[in-house]
Amino acid sequence: MDFKSLPQLLDHFKEEKTCIEYYENIRWAGKPVCPHCDAEHPYVTTRGYKCSNNECYKKFTVKVGTIFENSKISLRTWFAAIWRCTNHKKGISSVQLSLDLGITQKTAWFVLHRVREMLKDKSPRMLGEYGMVEADEAYIGQREQTKHYSKRRSDENPSLRNDGSPYVEKKVIVGIIERNGKVVLKHVPNATKKNMVALIEKHVPKGAKIYTDESKVYKSLKKHYTHETVKHALSIYVAGDVHTNTIENFWSVLKRGLVGVYHQVSEKHLERYLDEFSARFNTRDITTSDRFQNFLKESESYLSHKRLIGVK
Ligand SMILES: [Zn+2]
Repeated sequence: MDFKSLPQLLDHFKEEKTCIEYYENIRWAGKPVCPHCDAEHPYVTTRGYKCSNNECYKKFTVKVGTIFENSKISLRTWFAAIWRCTNHKKGISSVQLSLDLGITQKTAWFVLHRVREMLKDKSPRMLGEYGMVEADEAYIGQREQTKHYSKRRSDENPSLRNDGSPYVEKKVIVGIIERNGKVVLKHVPNATKKNMVALIEKHVPKGAKIYTDESKVYKSLKKHYTHETVKHALSIYVAGDVHTNTIENFWSVLKRGLVGVYHQVSEKHLERYLDEFSARFNTRDITTSDRFQNFLKESESYLSHKRLIGVK
């Protein structure tokens, strides 16, 4: 299946039945499995399946245990949403998605969050096995100088703003990127050495080449890596291979997306937006159609019984 555009995709998936068959094939490859107990060979019913294991015997459809479970909107609309969400470089807002698909904004908001759950890396992504890595941190939030006086941090009580409401620090994001490769993003409470180094050690194998700015939080990287720093303080931004331009270009796309498309991102949801941005970036070299189908394979949202007990 090779879809060139959204109209072509919608044309193909006119009927819900076509969507279900297509999705069953992606999820089960022709062998339906009970999502409750992992038994194979269920009975076919008018509305889906019934488990053939006497101890389970539960009814299910292909949507059970996936991001589509308990949703009233059609798979066709879900597919369109996934297509839209994974194809805009800077993302798509729930307002825009609701207008595009003719659903309420509340539904669009819910759909986008479930899609982000699907986009999340399921196991830690390793960077730097084949190339050079850059690490950096970014700060998301409005600058003090551009805020209205009442919203600025109070001089008398730094935990409050001038209007008496709580002062919220800028949000810190750590980014690790492999040149010509993939990115890993993580929201951390603050830019401490412990937070930065822990994340780098989790995603970059020892011995790799890594570039950062001269911030002292990265100092201990020398222990396990070939670590070199860009001398921003001396206005030296590139010295041969030593630069952090790749991650800085990434930050500018991310910030334009977070500020321009999503306006305000709460602390609670920031991690999910980061999953969305990194998923899009990490699949930039494959076709829209492949990207759609690959992500759909990741749409199981709950661990299966077998995987929980360690059989699979
Ligand atoms: Zn079962």
